[in-house]
Order: sequence, then C-alpha cells, then structure tokens
Amino acid sequence: MGKIERLPEDVVNRMAAGEVLARPCNAIKELVENSLDAGATEIMVNVQSAGLKSLQVTDNGKGIDREDFELVCERFATSKLHKFEDLMHMKTYGFRGEALASLSHVAKVNIVSKRATDNCAYQGNFLDGKLVAPTRPSAGRTGTCITASDLFYNLPTRRNKMAAHGEESKAIYDMLTVVPLSLESAALKFKFTGNVSKPVASATAKLAQQRKSNRSFFSVFINGRSVRCDILKHPIDEVLQTRGLFCQFCSLHLEIDETRIDVNVHPTKSSVIFLEKEEIIGEIRAYFEKVVTEIFGFEEAKEAE
Ligand code: ADP
Ligand code: MG
Repeated sequence: MGKIERLPEDVVNRMAAGEVLARPCNAIKELVENSLDAGATEIMVNVQSAGLKSLQVTDNGKGIDREDFELVCERFATSKLHKFEDLMHMKTYGFRGEALASLSHVAKVNIVSKRATDNCAYQGNFLDGKLVAPTRPSAGRTGTCITASDLFYNLPTRRNKMAAHGEESKAIYDMLTVVPLSLESAALKFKFTGNVSKPVASATAKLAQQRKSNRSFFSVFINGRSVRCDILKHPIDEVLQTRGLFCQFCSLHLEIDETRIDVNVHPTKSSVIFLEKEEIIGEIRAYFEKVVTEIFGFEEAKEAE
C-alpha cells in the first residue's frame, strides 16, 4: 500500500489562499488594486475588527458585467490578460486572477456591482470560488463594492493569531496612508513617481518572515508597462532594509525616453536596460532616503553590524 495521497481540492485551495492572503491588509491591498485597475477615482475602505469581522472596499470604477459574476471568484480567471504574449505589456496591478478566488476560500464574499450602462446593480454571494446562488438585482451606484466577512473562519489557527486587533488595524492604516513620490531630472531625462505607504519597523524575525511571504507588495511600471524586475525595487529595498523597515504598499513608475531604454521582456522575467542606469538609480535612492528621513521621520541608516 503506497503512502502518498492527493489532498482534497478544498484543502489545497485553502492553503494556497492562506499564502496569498496572509493578513487582512493583504486582502485590502488586493481589493484596492482591483479598484485602481477598474479606473476608480474614489475608493472607500471599511473594516470591522481589524478586517476579521468584515472588510469592504467600494469604488466608482467601471464595474463588473453581470455575465462575469459566474467567473469572478474562480482561480486564474481574469479580464486583464488574454494570452501568454500579453504578459509583455501589462498595464494593470493584477492579471493572475487569484485575489478574489483566494478571498472566497478564506472568507464569505459579497459583490455588488453596476456598470454605467446597466439600469441597476447586481449582487452575488461567493464561497470557495463559486456563486452560492444566482446573481440578483440590487440597489447600488456605478462601481463595485466587495465585502469579505469572517476572514479566516475556516483557518482557526490563523484567526487566533490575528487576535491582536490593534496591530492589524495599525497595519491597515499604515498601508492606506500613502505618500506620493515625485522626482524629475531634466539632465537624466527621467520622471519617477509612485506611492508608498508609511514604513513600519520589521522588528521580529517572525514578522519579517510573514512579510517575506507577502510577495507582491511592490508594483513596478516602466513607461506604463508592468515589469517584473528588481531594477527600481533595489534602491527602495536598500533604504528600507538598512533601517530595519518595511512598507506594506509600494507602487513605482518610471517614465523614461523610449530611445534611451531597452525593455527586453521575457514573460516571467523582465530585464530593463537603460542609459545612465547607475546615475538614475543613484538619484532615486538619494531621493527615497530623503523621503524616509524627512517625511516619515526615520533616522539615518545605522552601520551594518
Ligand atoms: P486580477 O486582478 O488578477 O484579474 P482578481 O481575482 O483580483 O484577479 O479579480 C478578478 C477579476 O474581477 C478582474 O480581472 C476584474 O475583471 C474583476 N474585478 C475585480 N475587482 C473589480 C473591481 N473593483 N471593479 C471591476 N472589476 C473588478
Ligand atoms: Mg486583482
């Protein structure tokens, strides 16, 4: 008799979801990014009991088609990526179709959405990737409101670990308190903008470990394309790490003359080569050091031990 068995699908899904959404603030980040991808200009976030009882993100974006409700919480279902080659010029934060699916495996999800051309909104309740009943008409303004209730109800150990609501609430608050970044150089012909949340001290090894698994808090766009490369991540990371800090949210945009850049994109890994790279990265690092000390009020970097 062999000893290897296939894990039941619901166990696999719940474990995978727990990886993607380690904490309530990960879920909020995913929902807010979806709102931004939907072109929202106003986003409202509501949380109860640090997001464990309920977390809700409402936006005025383009809304979800009624027909799409069927797939919206299914894993690897997305409206943002259609074919493999599209990976080379993604302009959105998300494209893997994992966030809502994951959420529906660790929470009870309700979606109310209205597109500008619809006469009314529609809503649906989701559990484990699926609609629990057919969608039904509902009141609602153009845009989308997603509510997740009883987060981690089926992961009791995780839920208990989150008992310190104060710390979770603070993490959410810090994540949503974003500072705009803006740096321009006529000499080096680049424009650097972005948003970064208030850094927090990553004091204990345990927390650092948890945060490592929070794999996608950095979004990097070069000339509007989402790139999976570390080029802009490095200087920011360095400044944070030398001070023992961590950011919950970080979105970075670099605009650079197309003639000075060579984006050699492989769908899973992008290498970006541009003229005067060292100088540009150096300026961004110096600028971000200033933001961290002057705006966020953290001290100069300590000498490495
Ligand atoms: P991804 O963002 O990677 O596509 P998600 O699981 O986060 O995957 O979302 C799945 C799909 O649901 C999106 O592709 C999008 O079509 C739709 N969606 C999610 N949130 C919103 C929103 N706030 N407004 C409009 N559409 C949304
Ligand atoms: Mg998404």
